[in-house]
Amino acid sequence: MKRASLARGACLLTLAIGSTGGAVAQSGSVKKINPKNIDTYYNVCRGLSTECFNDWHAFDTLPNKVLIYSRTAGPRHANLGTVMAAGLNPTMNADNVMQAGLVRMLAAAGIAADWTEDVTVLAGRINNYKAVIFASSNRDTLFNATATTSNDAARTALRNYMRRGGGFVGIHNAFGAEYNWPYYEGLLGNANFYNHSPNRNGNVVITAADPSTAGVPSTFAYQDEWYNLMPFPTNVKFLAKVDTTSLSPANAPPHPGHPDFHPVAWCQYYDGGKSWVTTLGHNGHSFNGSGVGAQAFEKLLVQGVMSVIGLTPFCT
Ligand SMILES: [Zn+2]
Repeated sequence: MKRASLARGACLLTLAIGSTGGAVAQSGSVKKINPKNIDTYYNVCRGLSTECFNDWHAFDTLPNKVLIYSRTAGPRHANLGTVMAAGLNPTMNADNVMQAGLVRMLAAAGIAADWTEDVTVLAGRINNYKAVIFASSNRDTLFNATATTSNDAARTALRNYMRRGGGFVGIHNAFGAEYNWPYYEGLLGNANFYNHSPNRNGNVVITAADPSTAGVPSTFAYQDEWYNLMPFPTNVKFLAKVDTTSLSPANAPPHPGHPDFHPVAWCQYYDGGKSWVTTLGHNGHSFNGSGVGAQAFEKLLVQGVMSVIGLTPFCT
């Protein structure tokens, strides 16, 4: 039923473009979109074209503030620590290392942050932020089991937020979430977590010049699980990869790994908004500045957030 509904939406969009002879005035409700930028599977405009960004200035008057969302609906990463209380900005526990690390590193860049693990807060407040950061929030992270109706309220909120021109940042086990919601898979770049190889050292290599990679060492030692992806991301700008010759083993059976090209960070415009994601971030020591490659990772991540919220150009 949902797919049929999406298909009808695609037809309407095509008709809207076609009926005007191509050029839809900016005063109209839709703008001209080249059909080649429409991903017909996810039924969204996505990729590197700014046609896929709804530059409606919806967030211009907001402060440079983001929402960190770390609600887990499945296995919980150790670096997320004790489950937080409901509501906005609950008291952090000493073991909420990833969340606290994100607040710290963003503050150092002049970016304020709120945090929550409450799906109703995400759904209700998302439009107050220039970006939402999914911090290893996993599985059915947007499902509200306590709601008797409209269980997909958070999905609706996230989708409309992207269409508003919002910013999404996904870290580590943000892959490994919402497997059965195609829109989210597209938001990750037509990708999701399949499995991972052992948590071990490897060399991250920057693959593209970009505001988010500027000044990051071109190669830096790091430690992670090096997520294997299924499907493999498409139509995105790849920002960094792991040098697979630095890994042994390079796969996690039965997944063959990505021996020829194993990306770990990328960006794209998605359905009107911006999406910047990285599979890195398994370890606590990547967020408290003490781990191998932590400073380089931090620079990459913070600059990714900066590009998403408009402090620097995005995904150039
Ligand atoms: Zn992990």
